[in-house]
Order: sequence, then C-alpha cells, then structure tokens
Amino acid sequence: MRRAALAAGACTALVAALLGSAAGAQASPPTAAPARTLSAPDIDGAAVKADLGELQKIADANGGTRAHGTAGYKASVDFIQAKLEAAGFTTKLQEFTSGGAKGYNVIADWPGGDSDKVVMAGAHLDSVDAGPGINDNGSGAAGILEVALAVAKADLKPAGHLRFAWWGDEEAGMVGSSHYVDALGADGLAKIDGYLNFDMIGSPNPGYFVYDDDARLEKVFTDWFAAKKIATEPETEGDGRSDHAPFKDRGVKVGGLYSGGERTKTERQAAQWGGTAGEEFDACYHRSCDTLKNIDDKALDTNTDAIANAVWELSS
Ligand SMILES: [Zn+2]
Repeated sequence: MRRAALAAGACTALVAALLGSAAGAQASPPTAAPARTLSAPDIDGAAVKADLGELQKIADANGGTRAHGTAGYKASVDFIQAKLEAAGFTTKLQEFTSGGAKGYNVIADWPGGDSDKVVMAGAHLDSVDAGPGINDNGSGAAGILEVALAVAKADLKPAGHLRFAWWGDEEAGMVGSSHYVDALGADGLAKIDGYLNFDMIGSPNPGYFVYDDDARLEKVFTDWFAAKKIATEPETEGDGRSDHAPFKDRGVKVGGLYSGGERTKTERQAAQWGGTAGEEFDACYHRSCDTLKNIDDKALDTNTDAIANAVWELSS
C-alpha cells in the first residue's frame, strides 16, 4: 500500500514534468508532495546514549546504583517521567511495595487510538544494588524513551493505542510488572494486542536475539533485521526472566529484543555477529562495571531503530 502510493506520486510528478517540457515551459523541478512518513523514523543513537549518560550521572550522585528502594531509582523515574510529560504523554506513577520499600512503575499513554487494541512496549528501569545498570537495563529504558519521544515528534496517529512502561523492581523478580498485570485484571489484559519487552539491548559483545514467544510479533523484528542483513537468533536465555513473563503467563502475546548477557558467545555467533567467541555478551552483567562504557553503540542504535519500526508497524 505505501509503496504503491509513493510510486503513483512519482509517476504524477514525472508526467507533470514531461508535460511541462512538451509545452515548452521553463523547466522547473517537479513540486513534490510532502512525504507522508508512515514508516518509523531512524532514531538518533546519540540521543539514546545521552539518556544513558543521564542515568549514569544519577547513579554517580546516589552511591553508584539505581536499584529499587534507592534515591537513584526515584531520580531515574523523575527523569523519564519529565521527558514524557514535556512531549505530551499522559503519564502516571503506579506505586507498589516490595521488600519494605516503595516502588514505582512509570506508565505513559499516547493519547488516541483504539483502546481495545493496546500496543505496549516496556523496559525495567531499576538496576541491581551492585552497579548503575547502564546496559541492564538503562539501555532498554532509554531505547523505548527515545521511541516514545519519536512518536510525539511525529505526532503519530496510530490505529491502536500506544502505551509505554518503565518497570520498577524487576531485579527482585518482576515485581513492578507483576503488580501492573494484577492491577489491570483480565478485562484490561484482554485489550493488550501485544507486549514488547526490552531488557539489555546494548551489550558490549552483542548478539541479536528476538523473542520467539509469538510468531507475529517475532516476525516484525526478524523481517526488519533480515532487511538490514543482520542475523538474528531466537531468544531463549531470558525466558521467564524479565517483564514479559507476567504478561505471557496471563495469555498476552509477547515479543522483544535482547543483545545477550552472562553467557559466552559461540564461534558461530562470533562469525555472524563479530565480537569475541568465548567471552560473555556482557561481562559486566550485574556488576559495578555496568557503566556507560559497557555499551556497544551500534547495537544500542540498531535495536532502538528496530523497536521504533515495531511500534509503528504494530500500532498502524
Ligand atoms: Zn534486566
């Protein structure tokens, strides 16, 4: 549909140009109709990295961590929420209690779209106590933030309703996302057309793993990567280990991306993706060295572009 529309526009312009020259009119460039950018924009990787720089600063100012129950976590929440509010999202903080401390999910709705067809993208915002959590999971949190801001910038009018979520206290066992799912109930869950999860998308020795839980959601990603000639593998390491699990357990279709964690890269994976065989995808997983230096910029940028494509496609 979109390609045909573009081709027709190009034909019209060509005919107009030919008619113009046939009539002996002064040659002038055909007036192009304003491009209708129905496909997702390319997300600026530097903007995602800058958000990670802010999360690093927040950790630095708060004892080196952004873990649940710390001032660093609340500052992370405030940072994300302020950007979304300024861009026109309707946000709310959903509170819960875990381990004796107050936790927060940030839920951001893009006004409009069919509320019976909700497309959700989420990422956990908390780190472990041991470090600033820049790959795990500042990367996913910043990636979906920049995609959300791109939705606002494009003034996207999706057919479906778009919702973004930043989960609290994932590291203790998906506490925030489980709270959300419980609070939403069966009727609310039935309106979620798909939940996409992004947990670690900028691993320093990256791979490109696509959740294989649902064929339709998987294909949106694998088609995009195939068009970029980037090999993917089905994601298996994180099954049940991140915030998609509470959704999947309640029958919601889930998808997502992952660039690898504490496992080591095989020879075959190094051959297809580059990087170092025998080394962990993320040697700083859950350690104090999961800092701004612990990010592969290309993986971060590529995966964020893939998220944008999925959000545009699935909500259109
Ligand atoms: Zn994580």
